[in-house]
Amino acid sequence: MATAKAYAAASATSALAPFQIERRAVGPHDVQIEIAYCGICHSDLHQVRDEWGGSKYPMVPGHEIVGKITAVGAHVKAFKVGDLAGVGCMVDSCRTCPSCQRKLEQFCEKGVAWSYNSTEMDRVTPTYGGYSSSIVVDEAFTLKVSPKLDLAAAAPLLCAGITTYSPLRHWNTKKGDKVGVVGLGGLGHMAVKIAAAMGAEVTMLSTSKSKEADARKLGAHHFGLTSEDATFKRLAGQFDLIIDTISAPHDYNKYLGLLRIEGAMVLLGVPPEPTPVAAHALIGGRKILTGSLIGGIQETQEMLDFCAEHGIVSEIELIPVQQVNEAYERMLKNDVRYRFVLDMKTL
Ligand code: NAP
Ligand code: ZN
Ligand code: ZN
Repeated sequence: MATAKAYAAASATSALAPFQIERRAVGPHDVQIEIAYCGICHSDLHQVRDEWGGSKYPMVPGHEIVGKITAVGAHVKAFKVGDLAGVGCMVDSCRTCPSCQRKLEQFCEKGVAWSYNSTEMDRVTPTYGGYSSSIVVDEAFTLKVSPKLDLAAAAPLLCAGITTYSPLRHWNTKKGDKVGVVGLGGLGHMAVKIAAAMGAEVTMLSTSKSKEADARKLGAHHFGLTSEDATFKRLAGQFDLIIDTISAPHDYNKYLGLLRIEGAMVLLGVPPEPTPVAAHALIGGRKILTGSLIGGIQETQEMLDFCAEHGIVSEIELIPVQQVNEAYERMLKNDVRYRFVLDMKTL
């Protein structure tokens, strides 16, 4: 066992504060990673504040983890000391159920061991995330990060990157497809970059007029202001695919009207409250309303390799860990361009 420094929330109403955790001894299949950077995902905030229910405390959030390998177990094959590595939302799964066999560990039928606010597969040992100085993870859940990418800006690929890449791939996004991305935050800006790199014609659908120039710089070809009803009339029936990343309750029915016949809208954002969907919004046009949850480990590696090939990283604001509570407040005020990343040297 080794002691690691961390930042933790003691309850749903307390601010994150310095904390100490124990990391397990490096087992035969484990790697030990000295964490260099960790992104701040809106899911961290939802869970710290127990907005989805069932949160476990003390909670050390963080699932956009990158760093350098400092030790490897005797049977580790794919990594060596000094390699760059990443860890995302999962640290283990049962590995034998039909979902795990299909490389969809995120849907493990025995329940995933999430990187934090969860337990290891023994269902006893709590897991602690990346707002910490080090982590010990099985190599099967460790990703390779290309040295070609800026390491701090690559951290958000481990959640925001794979969460947007996976549905774009699943719905077979290809050159010329019309893709709408809803919400220009951490997930949304990765969706724009990745969809554009796949050759799609991308429209940013945002409540923030002030983000239009950024959206175009990120690769969006068009912009629609969703606070104006005229936008929904102008773009009705246009999109093959809509990627919805909004973190707060909003009217799905309006966005379904923007899909072409048999188009699909994928929910990625997880607002705390449910929103009603009218049958009318789906039946006229045989439309598809669906969702997506991160991506499997193999697909996460595929996404990291795709990003290395296309030079894609996140647009980040690198901050010292002491500013994490302020960053949460700014995220709620929609004041993030477009991902906060914690510099773990400052811990
Ligand atoms: P974020 O950086 O805070 O971005 C959310 C964006 O949604 C904002 O930038 C804003 O974009 C828009 N928005 C926020 N409040 C809104 C409101 N009241 N009405 C309309 N639009 C609003 O968050 P994130 O880290 O990208 O995460 C987004 C959501 O995805 C969260 O719910 C998170 O938990 C979830 N998530 C899901 C998965 C998954 O696997 N499915 C993985 C990671 C995160 P505009 O200013 O452009 O309107
Ligand atoms: Zn996340
Ligand atoms: Zn499984």
